[in-house]
Amino acid sequence: RAKTSGSSNFRFFELAMDATILQRSLLEQRIRRAMSEKKIEPEFQPIVRLQDGMILGFEALARWHDPEFGSVPPREFIPIAEDVGLISELTEAILVKACKAARRWPNTIGLSLNISALKLQEQTFPLRLAAILAEHELLPHRLMLDITEPRLLRHTRQLQPVLEQLCEQGVRLALDDFGIGTSSLTFLRAHPFDTVKIHGQFSGGILDDPEKAAVVEAILILARGMGIRTVAEGIEDPALINRLQTLGCHAGQGHVFGPAVSADVATKLAARGYLFPASPDDHDSSGA
Ligand code: C2E
Ligand code: MG
Ligand code: MG
Repeated sequence: RAKTSGSSNFRFFELAMDATILQRSLLEQRIRRAMSEKKIEPEFQPIVRLQDGMILGFEALARWHDPEFGSVPPREFIPIAEDVGLISELTEAILVKACKAARRWPNTIGLSLNISALKLQEQTFPLRLAAILAEHELLPHRLMLDITEPRLLRHTRQLQPVLEQLCEQGVRLALDDFGIGTSSLTFLRAHPFDTVKIHGQFSGGILDDPEKAAVVEAILILARGMGIRTVAEGIEDPALINRLQTLGCHAGQGHVFGPAVSADVATKLAARGYLFPASPDDHDSSGA
Protein backbone atom coordinates (compact mmCIF):
# COMPACT_ATOMS: atom_id res chain seq x y z
CA ARG A 1 0.00 0.00 0.00
CA ALA A 2 2.60 2.49 1.13
CA LYS A 3 4.57 2.01 -2.07
CA THR A 4 1.72 2.62 -4.46
CA SER A 5 0.56 5.68 -2.55
CA GLY A 6 3.85 7.41 -3.39
CA SER A 7 5.40 10.60 -2.18
CA SER A 8 2.37 12.83 -2.66
CA ASN A 9 0.83 10.88 0.14
CA PHE A 10 3.77 11.66 2.37
CA ARG A 11 3.27 15.35 1.68
CA PHE A 12 -0.27 15.13 2.88
CA PHE A 13 0.84 13.44 6.04
CA GLU A 14 3.56 16.02 6.71
CA LEU A 15 1.07 18.77 6.20
CA ALA A 16 -1.26 17.12 8.66
CA MET A 17 1.50 16.55 11.20
CA ASP A 18 2.58 20.14 11.76
CA ALA A 19 -0.57 21.76 10.63
CA THR A 20 -0.91 25.39 11.60
CA ILE A 21 -4.38 26.83 11.82
CA LEU A 22 -4.10 27.98 8.24
CA GLN A 23 -2.96 24.58 7.01
CA ARG A 24 -5.65 22.83 8.96
CA SER A 25 -8.32 24.93 7.37
CA LEU A 26 -6.74 24.03 4.04
CA LEU A 27 -6.98 20.35 4.89
CA GLU A 28 -10.53 20.84 6.00
CA GLN A 29 -11.33 22.43 2.65
CA ARG A 30 -9.61 19.53 0.89
CA ILE A 31 -11.65 16.93 2.71
CA ARG A 32 -14.80 18.95 2.22
CA ARG A 33 -14.13 19.26 -1.48
CA ALA A 34 -13.22 15.59 -1.81
CA MET A 35 -16.52 14.77 -0.14
CA SER A 36 -18.59 17.02 -2.36
CA GLU A 37 -16.77 15.75 -5.45
CA LYS A 38 -17.42 12.23 -4.23
CA LYS A 39 -13.75 11.32 -4.18
CA ILE A 40 -14.09 9.60 -0.82
CA GLU A 41 -15.80 6.28 -1.26
CA PRO A 42 -16.11 3.01 0.59
CA GLU A 43 -14.47 -0.13 -0.72
CA PHE A 44 -15.41 -3.52 0.63
CA GLN A 45 -13.22 -6.20 2.15
CA PRO A 46 -14.71 -9.70 2.49
CA ILE A 47 -15.13 -11.29 5.91
CA VAL A 48 -14.94 -15.03 5.48
CA ARG A 49 -15.99 -18.00 7.65
CA LEU A 50 -12.77 -19.93 8.24
CA GLN A 51 -14.44 -23.32 8.32
CA ASP A 52 -15.66 -23.31 4.73
CA GLY A 53 -14.90 -20.02 2.99
CA MET A 54 -18.44 -18.68 3.12
CA ILE A 55 -18.60 -14.90 2.81
CA LEU A 56 -20.27 -13.63 5.97
CA GLY A 57 -20.03 -9.98 5.14
CA PHE A 58 -17.97 -7.08 3.87
CA GLU A 59 -16.26 -4.32 5.80
CA ALA A 60 -16.61 -0.87 4.26
CA LEU A 61 -13.25 0.89 4.30
CA ALA A 62 -13.04 4.55 3.33
CA ARG A 63 -10.88 5.31 0.30
CA TRP A 64 -9.77 8.71 -0.92
CA HIS A 65 -8.11 8.93 -4.30
CA ASP A 66 -7.02 12.51 -4.74
CA PRO A 67 -5.53 13.74 -8.03
CA GLU A 68 -3.06 15.94 -6.17
CA PHE A 69 -2.28 13.96 -3.03
CA GLY A 70 -2.58 10.48 -4.47
CA SER A 71 -4.21 7.82 -2.31
CA VAL A 72 -4.69 9.16 1.17
CA PRO A 73 -5.13 6.31 3.68
CA PRO A 74 -8.00 6.45 6.19
CA ARG A 75 -5.60 6.34 9.13
CA GLU A 76 -4.50 9.79 7.98
CA PHE A 77 -7.68 11.52 6.89
CA ILE A 78 -10.17 10.11 9.41
CA PRO A 79 -8.39 11.72 12.40
CA ILE A 80 -8.26 15.02 10.49
CA ALA A 81 -11.95 14.78 9.63
CA GLU A 82 -12.60 14.20 13.32
CA ASP A 83 -10.44 17.18 14.22
CA VAL A 84 -12.08 19.63 11.85
CA GLY A 85 -15.64 18.57 12.60
CA LEU A 86 -16.35 16.71 9.38
CA ILE A 87 -16.53 13.17 10.69
CA SER A 88 -20.28 13.20 11.14
CA GLU A 89 -20.99 14.10 7.53
CA LEU A 90 -18.27 11.79 6.28
CA THR A 91 -19.62 8.84 8.25
CA GLU A 92 -23.09 9.37 6.85
CA ALA A 93 -21.82 9.70 3.30
CA ILE A 94 -19.94 6.40 3.62
CA LEU A 95 -22.85 4.75 5.39
CA VAL A 96 -25.30 5.70 2.65
CA LYS A 97 -22.96 4.52 -0.12
CA ALA A 98 -22.27 1.28 1.72
CA CYS A 99 -26.01 0.67 2.20
CA LYS A 100 -26.59 1.19 -1.51
CA ALA A 101 -24.00 -1.49 -2.19
CA ALA A 102 -25.23 -3.91 0.48
CA ARG A 103 -28.74 -3.72 -0.86
CA ARG A 104 -27.55 -5.62 -3.94
CA TRP A 105 -26.11 -8.51 -1.92
CA PRO A 106 -27.98 -11.61 -0.77
CA ASN A 107 -29.61 -10.74 2.54
CA THR A 108 -27.49 -13.28 4.41
CA ILE A 109 -24.43 -11.11 3.84
CA GLY A 110 -23.59 -8.47 6.43
CA LEU A 111 -22.11 -4.99 6.19
CA SER A 112 -19.46 -3.79 8.65
CA LEU A 113 -18.83 -0.13 9.08
CA ASN A 114 -16.14 1.62 11.09
CA ILE A 115 -17.58 4.22 13.30
CA SER A 116 -15.80 7.01 15.09
CA ALA A 117 -16.54 7.44 18.79
CA LEU A 118 -17.36 11.07 17.98
CA LYS A 119 -20.24 9.96 15.79
CA LEU A 120 -21.45 7.64 18.52
CA GLN A 121 -21.64 10.57 20.87
CA GLU A 122 -24.44 12.07 18.82
CA GLN A 123 -27.54 11.09 20.71
CA THR A 124 -29.56 11.24 17.49
CA PHE A 125 -27.34 8.74 15.71
CA PRO A 126 -29.36 5.56 16.43
CA LEU A 127 -32.55 7.06 15.00
CA ARG A 128 -30.75 8.54 12.06
CA LEU A 129 -29.15 5.17 11.37
CA ALA A 130 -32.51 3.39 11.62
CA ALA A 131 -33.93 5.82 9.04
CA ILE A 132 -31.04 5.24 6.62
CA LEU A 133 -31.33 1.46 6.98
CA ALA A 134 -35.09 1.58 6.41
CA GLU A 135 -34.66 3.80 3.39
CA HIS A 136 -32.34 1.21 1.86
CA GLU A 137 -34.49 -1.71 3.00
CA LEU A 138 -31.73 -3.24 5.08
CA LEU A 139 -32.56 -5.10 8.26
CA PRO A 140 -30.60 -3.71 11.24
CA HIS A 141 -29.06 -7.08 12.07
CA ARG A 142 -27.16 -7.00 8.78
CA LEU A 143 -25.20 -4.00 9.99
CA MET A 144 -22.19 -4.36 12.24
CA LEU A 145 -20.53 -1.27 13.67
CA ASP A 146 -16.79 -1.60 14.24
CA ILE A 147 -15.75 0.38 17.27
CA THR A 148 -12.15 0.89 18.32
CA GLU A 149 -11.64 0.92 22.00
CA PRO A 150 -8.98 3.43 23.11
CA ARG A 151 -10.97 6.43 22.01
CA LEU A 152 -14.10 5.01 23.49
CA LEU A 153 -12.71 4.68 26.94
CA ARG A 154 -12.60 8.42 27.31
CA HIS A 155 -16.29 8.80 26.59
CA THR A 156 -17.71 5.65 28.09
CA ARG A 157 -20.46 7.31 30.04
CA GLN A 158 -22.05 9.19 27.15
CA LEU A 159 -21.69 6.15 24.91
CA GLN A 160 -23.48 3.62 27.03
CA PRO A 161 -27.05 4.72 26.18
CA VAL A 162 -26.26 5.04 22.48
CA LEU A 163 -24.68 1.58 22.34
CA GLU A 164 -27.65 0.12 24.17
CA GLN A 165 -30.12 1.79 21.87
CA LEU A 166 -28.27 0.51 18.79
CA CYS A 167 -28.27 -2.94 20.28
CA GLU A 168 -32.01 -2.77 20.98
CA GLN A 169 -32.59 -1.75 17.38
CA GLY A 170 -30.85 -4.96 16.34
CA VAL A 171 -27.63 -3.42 15.03
CA ARG A 172 -24.57 -5.48 15.98
CA LEU A 173 -21.41 -4.14 17.55
CA ALA A 174 -17.83 -5.30 17.05
CA LEU A 175 -14.88 -4.33 19.19
CA ASP A 176 -12.18 -3.60 16.60
CA ASP A 177 -8.41 -4.00 16.92
CA PHE A 178 -8.61 -6.09 20.06
CA GLY A 179 -5.19 -7.04 21.42
CA ILE A 180 -3.50 -3.69 20.88
CA GLY A 181 -3.74 -0.42 22.71
CA THR A 182 -5.59 -0.46 25.96
CA SER A 183 -7.93 -3.36 25.20
CA SER A 184 -9.58 -4.43 28.38
CA LEU A 185 -11.77 -7.24 29.46
CA THR A 186 -13.83 -4.94 31.63
CA PHE A 187 -14.67 -2.84 28.63
CA LEU A 188 -15.69 -5.83 26.58
CA ARG A 189 -17.96 -7.04 29.36
CA ALA A 190 -19.49 -3.65 30.01
CA HIS A 191 -20.95 -3.21 26.52
CA PRO A 192 -23.18 -5.35 24.30
CA PHE A 193 -20.57 -6.55 21.81
CA ASP A 194 -21.48 -9.32 19.39
CA THR A 195 -17.99 -9.71 17.90
CA VAL A 196 -14.35 -9.12 18.74
CA LYS A 197 -11.91 -8.41 15.93
CA ILE A 198 -8.36 -9.47 16.65
CA HIS A 199 -5.79 -7.04 15.32
CA GLY A 200 -3.68 -8.36 12.44
CA GLN A 201 -0.53 -7.65 14.38
CA PHE A 202 -1.52 -10.56 16.62
CA SER A 203 -3.42 -12.94 14.37
CA GLY A 204 -0.74 -12.56 11.69
CA GLY A 205 2.02 -13.57 14.09
CA ILE A 206 0.73 -16.77 15.68
CA LEU A 207 2.73 -19.17 13.51
CA ASP A 208 6.16 -17.89 14.49
CA ASP A 209 5.69 -15.90 17.67
CA PRO A 210 4.64 -17.93 20.73
CA GLU A 211 3.70 -14.82 22.67
CA LYS A 212 1.32 -13.62 19.98
CA ALA A 213 -0.08 -17.12 19.73
CA ALA A 214 -0.72 -17.08 23.47
CA VAL A 215 -2.51 -13.72 23.26
CA VAL A 216 -4.71 -14.91 20.41
CA GLU A 217 -5.52 -18.17 22.18
CA ALA A 218 -6.48 -16.29 25.31
CA ILE A 219 -8.75 -13.91 23.37
CA LEU A 220 -10.44 -16.83 21.62
CA ILE A 221 -11.06 -18.73 24.86
CA LEU A 222 -12.34 -15.58 26.48
CA ALA A 223 -14.66 -14.76 23.61
CA ARG A 224 -16.05 -18.26 23.47
CA GLY A 225 -16.73 -18.16 27.20
CA MET A 226 -18.63 -14.93 26.74
CA GLY A 227 -20.54 -16.11 23.69
CA ILE A 228 -18.85 -13.52 21.50
CA ARG A 229 -17.86 -14.20 17.90
CA THR A 230 -14.31 -13.66 16.69
CA VAL A 231 -12.85 -12.27 13.49
CA ALA A 232 -9.10 -12.43 12.91
CA GLU A 233 -7.81 -9.50 10.87
CA GLY A 234 -4.74 -9.26 8.66
CA ILE A 235 -4.60 -12.90 7.49
CA GLU A 236 -1.92 -12.94 4.81
CA ASP A 237 -0.64 -16.51 5.08
CA PRO A 238 -2.97 -19.36 4.03
CA ALA A 239 -1.46 -21.54 6.78
CA LEU A 240 -3.08 -19.24 9.32
CA ILE A 241 -6.56 -20.21 8.26
CA ASN A 242 -6.40 -23.75 9.58
CA ARG A 243 -4.47 -22.77 12.65
CA LEU A 244 -6.94 -20.05 13.64
CA GLN A 245 -9.86 -22.30 12.96
CA THR A 246 -8.40 -25.04 15.15
CA LEU A 247 -8.05 -22.49 17.91
CA GLY A 248 -11.74 -21.70 17.62
CA CYS A 249 -11.71 -18.49 15.58
CA HIS A 250 -14.91 -18.01 13.64
CA ALA A 251 -14.02 -15.75 10.74
CA GLY A 252 -11.15 -13.93 9.08
CA GLN A 253 -10.25 -11.00 6.94
CA GLY A 254 -7.04 -10.34 5.09
CA HIS A 255 -5.16 -10.28 1.85
CA VAL A 256 -5.31 -14.07 1.66
CA PHE A 257 -9.03 -13.69 0.93
CA GLY A 258 -8.60 -10.38 -0.80
CA PRO A 259 -8.28 -6.64 -0.16
CA ALA A 260 -11.10 -4.14 -0.17
CA VAL A 261 -12.70 -4.00 -3.62
CA SER A 262 -15.17 -1.74 -5.40
CA ALA A 263 -18.90 -2.09 -4.77
CA ASP A 264 -19.36 -3.80 -8.14
CA VAL A 265 -16.68 -6.40 -7.50
CA ALA A 266 -18.03 -6.98 -3.98
CA THR A 267 -21.48 -7.59 -5.43
CA LYS A 268 -20.06 -10.23 -7.78
CA LEU A 269 -18.24 -11.93 -4.90
CA ALA A 270 -21.38 -11.76 -2.78
CA ALA A 271 -23.37 -13.53 -5.49
CA ARG A 272 -20.76 -16.29 -5.61
CA GLY A 273 -21.00 -16.65 -1.83
CA TYR A 274 -17.66 -18.33 -1.14
CA LEU A 275 -14.03 -17.30 -1.26
CA PHE A 276 -10.97 -19.46 -1.10
CA PRO A 277 -7.45 -18.43 -0.26
CA ALA A 278 -5.38 -17.33 -3.21
CA SER A 279 -2.66 -19.85 -3.98
CA PRO A 280 0.76 -18.97 -2.54
CA ASP A 281 2.02 -18.22 -6.07
CA ASP A 282 -0.37 -15.27 -6.32
CA HIS A 283 1.10 -13.88 -3.15
CA ASP A 284 4.87 -13.70 -3.61
CA SER A 285 4.81 -10.04 -2.54
CA SER A 286 3.41 -10.90 0.89
CA GLY A 287 6.54 -12.87 1.74
CA ALA A 288 4.39 -15.82 2.78
P1 C2E B 1 -9.68 -1.51 10.59
O1 C2E B 1 -11.12 -1.23 10.72
O2 C2E B 1 -9.06 -2.38 11.61
O3 C2E B 1 -9.50 -2.11 9.13
C1 C2E B 1 -8.56 -3.10 8.79
C2 C2E B 1 -7.38 -2.51 8.05
O4 C2E B 1 -6.46 -3.58 7.70
C3 C2E B 1 -7.73 -1.86 6.72
O5 C2E B 1 -6.83 -0.78 6.54
C4 C2E B 1 -7.44 -2.96 5.71
O6 C2E B 1 -7.21 -2.47 4.41
C5 C2E B 1 -6.20 -3.56 6.30
N1 C2E B 1 -5.97 -4.94 5.89
C6 C2E B 1 -6.87 -5.84 5.44
N2 C2E B 1 -6.29 -7.03 5.19
C7 C2E B 1 -4.99 -6.90 5.51
C8 C2E B 1 -3.87 -7.81 5.47
O7 C2E B 1 -3.95 -8.97 5.12
N3 C2E B 1 -2.69 -7.29 5.90
C9 C2E B 1 -2.55 -6.00 6.33
N4 C2E B 1 -1.34 -5.58 6.72
N5 C2E B 1 -3.59 -5.12 6.37
C10 C2E B 1 -4.79 -5.58 5.96
P2 C2E B 1 -7.31 0.64 6.00
O8 C2E B 1 -8.36 0.48 4.96
O9 C2E B 1 -6.09 1.41 5.67
O10 C2E B 1 -8.03 1.27 7.27
C11 C2E B 1 -7.31 1.57 8.42
C12 C2E B 1 -8.21 1.97 9.55
O11 C2E B 1 -8.87 3.21 9.28
C13 C2E B 1 -9.34 0.96 9.81
O12 C2E B 1 -8.85 -0.13 10.57
C14 C2E B 1 -10.33 1.83 10.55
O13 C2E B 1 -9.98 1.92 11.90
C15 C2E B 1 -10.13 3.20 9.91
N6 C2E B 1 -11.19 3.43 8.90
C16 C2E B 1 -11.27 2.98 7.63
N7 C2E B 1 -12.41 3.40 7.03
C17 C2E B 1 -13.08 4.14 7.97
C18 C2E B 1 -14.34 4.84 7.98
O14 C2E B 1 -15.10 4.85 7.00
N8 C2E B 1 -14.68 5.49 9.14
C19 C2E B 1 -13.88 5.45 10.25
N9 C2E B 1 -14.29 6.12 11.35
N10 C2E B 1 -12.70 4.79 10.28
C20 C2E B 1 -12.30 4.15 9.15
MG1 MG C 1 -12.80 -2.21 11.27
MG1 MG D 1 -9.11 -3.64 12.98
